[in-house]
Amino acid sequence: MTIDVPQEILDALTDVDMPRLPAEPGPSDVVGLAGVKVPIYRAGCVVVGSGAAGLRAAVEMKRRGDHVVIISQSAWGGTSACSGSDKQTLHTANTADQGDNYKAMARAIRSGGAMDEDTAYVEAVGSSRMMASLQFLGLPLPQDPLGGTLRYQTDHDEVGRATSCGPRTSRLMVKVLAEETIRLGVPFYNQTTAVKILTGGDGADRHVVGIVAMRASDRTEENPLGIALFVSGVIVLAAGGPGELYRDSVYPNGCFGSLGLALEAGVELVNLTESQFGIGTRREGFPWNLSGTYVQAIPHIYSLDTEGAEHHFLAEYYRSAQELASNIFRKGYQWPFHATRMLDFGSSLVDLAISRETAAGRRVFMDFNRNPPSVPGDLPFSLERLDEDVRAYLGKAGADQDMPIDRLKHMNPLAIELYRRYKIDIAEEPLEFAVNNQHMNGGIMVDTWGRSNLGGCYAVGEAAGTHGVTRPGGAALNAGQVFGTRAAEHISASLRAKRHPTGDITDIAEAGIADLLAALRKESPLTVKSIRLAVQARMSEKAGIICDQESVGGALIEARKLNAEIRADGIAYGRAAEAVRSVQWRHMALASEAVLSALDFFIRNGGGSRGARAICDAEGESLPLARSGPLQDYRFRKERDAHREEQIIARLDGDEIRLSTRANRTLDESARSFFERDWPAWLTGRIYDLGADE
Ligand SMILES: Cc1cc2nc3c(=O)[nH]c(=O)nc-3n(C[C@H](O)[C@H](O)[C@H](O)COP(=O)(O)OP(=O)(O)OC[C@H]3O[C@@H](n4cnc5c(N)ncnc54)[C@H](O)[C@@H]3O)c2cc1C
Repeated sequence: MTIDVPQEILDALTDVDMPRLPAEPGPSDVVGLAGVKVPIYRAGCVVVGSGAAGLRAAVEMKRRGDHVVIISQSAWGGTSACSGSDKQTLHTANTADQGDNYKAMARAIRSGGAMDEDTAYVEAVGSSRMMASLQFLGLPLPQDPLGGTLRYQTDHDEVGRATSCGPRTSRLMVKVLAEETIRLGVPFYNQTTAVKILTGGDGADRHVVGIVAMRASDRTEENPLGIALFVSGVIVLAAGGPGELYRDSVYPNGCFGSLGLALEAGVELVNLTESQFGIGTRREGFPWNLSGTYVQAIPHIYSLDTEGAEHHFLAEYYRSAQELASNIFRKGYQWPFHATRMLDFGSSLVDLAISRETAAGRRVFMDFNRNPPSVPGDLPFSLERLDEDVRAYLGKAGADQDMPIDRLKHMNPLAIELYRRYKIDIAEEPLEFAVNNQHMNGGIMVDTWGRSNLGGCYAVGEAAGTHGVTRPGGAALNAGQVFGTRAAEHISASLRAKRHPTGDITDIAEAGIADLLAALRKESPLTVKSIRLAVQARMSEKAGIICDQESVGGALIEARKLNAEIRADGIAYGRAAEAVRSVQWRHMALASEAVLSALDFFIRNGGGSRGARAICDAEGESLPLARSGPLQDYRFRKERDAHREEQIIARLDGDEIRLSTRANRTLDESARSFFERDWPAWLTGRIYDLGADE
C-alpha cells in the first residue's frame, strides 16, 4: 500500500484560505461615557469569538431569525483556525460499517469522571447531526465508496470514533462556518476584544445588559483606547481556552479565553483542575501537536545539553529497545500525559522523561532520519521486535520502510508537508519539541443548553467547562458544535434575541468603563511583560504535569499576591494597542489564581492523580519504575473514587476566589422517549426549561 496523492490535493488540505469579511455595520450612536466618546452597537445577541464554536452558534441563531452579531479579537485567530496535528480529529458517533450506540458513546466520553452524565449524552447524541451539517456546509470528511465515514482510533477511544480532514480539520470547520455566516449576513466586528461584561439586577436576577469592547478602528482623539459598547441582553462566550496561562504551550499566540472576564462578572467556573498536556512544538515556533503518525513512525528522541552533547535519555527509562520504541509509537493515540500511564513502563514515562530533560536545561529533539538506538545490553531496534499491537498496526499500514521518515512519508505525507509550510523540513533536520499545555477541559459552568449561572450569558466551545477529567481526542471540536447549536436553539426559543434591546444602560456602562479605565495606569510598576513572565513561569513550573501540595500551595500564595498588587496599582500600558493586552493580562492573572485555588483545594482534600497531572506525595501508593530504578521523587497519589462523582466550582466573591463542590448531574439510562407522550413538550417549547430564566 502506498499513498500517492497529487501535490495540489495535499496543498488544499494544508493551506486553507479564509473568506473575506464584509464591511462592518457602523454604530447606532456615539455617547459620552466616563469622559470618552463611545460608539454604541446594539444586538439581540453578541457572540464573543469566531472559532468553530462561536461561528456555529451565530449560524444557528441567524438561521432561526435572531439578531446576532459576532465580535472577535482576531477573525482567524484562536485554536480552531490555527491549531492541529497530523490528523486533527473530530469525534462523532461511528458512521462507518456498524453504526453506534449513543449511550455507550456517552459513557466513553465521561469515563474519566467529573463530567455530567446528561452533558455526555447530549454530546454523543448530537454528534451525528453536527457531522452531517458540517458535511452539508462543505466540510470534506473522508468517505468510503458507499458513503461510510472513514474512522480511526484516538486517545480515550476504544471504538474508533475519530475522523479527520487531515492536519487542519478545525480550520476547515471555521472556513465552512465562516462562509455560511457571511452568506447569511451576520455582522462581524473583527479586531474587537470583549473586556468587560456589564450586568444589571441583583442576586438571582442578575443578568447581562451588554459588553464593553476595545476596537482599533474605534480609536479617536476623544476615545484613544477605542472603547466600544455593545448593548445586548444575551451573550455567547466562545472565546476559546486560556492558552496564555502557561509558558510551555502549544496554543497559538494570543489565546486568552474568557475565564477572567467571566469571573469578574460573577460567572461560575468548573473543573479548572482539568487540562491536557502532551508533546508538540511550542508557540515560539510553529505550535503543533506531535501525535498520531509523527510518533507512530517511531523517530529517535534525544536531548542536547548546553555543551552540545547528545543524550539517549529514554534508554534510562525503558528496559529494552522493543519497550522503548513501542511506547514512542503509543504516544500516537495515547497522546495526552496521564499519571497512571507512567506505571508499568507505560507511554507517559516518555512525557515525564522529556519534561525532566527540559527542566534540566536540555533541548529535546525528534529525528526522523534515525531509528531509536537500543538500550544498554539489548539487541538493536528492529521493526520485527515491537509489541504485538504496534507491529500489527505498522504491518496493516504497510509501514515497513527502514527509516522513520520513510514510514511517515508512507503513512501521512501531509505531516511532513505541514512543517515545510513553516520552513521546517523534518525530512532534513531533527525537530525540537517539548511537553506543553494544550487544552482546558474545565471552564464556564453550563447546563445542557450552554447556560451559565448569569442570566443571558451562555458559553460554548473551549470557554465552557463541559469536559470531565479525560476526553476522547476530537471531543472538543464536537462539543463546540453541539453546544453552539444547543445554545442557539435555546436563545432562539427564548425570543430574547429577535431584536436588539432599546433600553438605556448609561449608568451601568459609565460605571463599567470608569472601572476599566481606573485599572489602566501609565505609571504602574506592573507591566504586561512582568505579569506574563510571572504567571506563565508559575503555571508551567508549579501546575504542569507534576504537582505536589507544597509547591501548588506556594504558587497560590504568589498568585494571590500578584492580584492584590494589580488591584492596588493597576497595569501600565504604552501605546493604545497595549491597553487591551493589559486588561487581558489582568484577566489572566485572575484566571491563574482560580486554577491554582481549585488545584490547591483538590490536593488538600486528598485529591489524587488523574487526567493531566500526577500529584506527587512521599506517602503516595503508586511508584513509577524506570530501567535505572524506582523514580522515588515521582511517587504519586492514586485518584480517590469519590472525586470522580463531583466537580469543583470556582467563583469570585469580592477579591476572593470561593470554592465549592457539586455532584455530577446524572442521566437515567433506562428512560426512553415515547413519541406521543413527549411530542407536546417539543411543540410547546417546554424542553427548553425557559421558566428557569424568568
Ligand atoms: C495543537 C492543538 C491541537 C488540537 N487538536 C485537537 C483535535 O485534534 N481535536 C479536538 O477536538 N480538539 C483539538 N484541540 C482543541 C480544539 O482545537 C479547541 O478546543 C477548539 O478549537 C476551541 O474552539 P473554540 O471555538 O472554542 O475557540 P477558538 O477556536 O480558540 O476561538 C476563540 C475565538 O475567540 C476570540 N477571542 C478570544 N478572546 C476574545 C475576547 N475577549 N473578545 C473577542 N474575541 C475573543 C479569538 O480571536 C477566536 O476567534 C487542539 C488544540 C491545540 C492547541
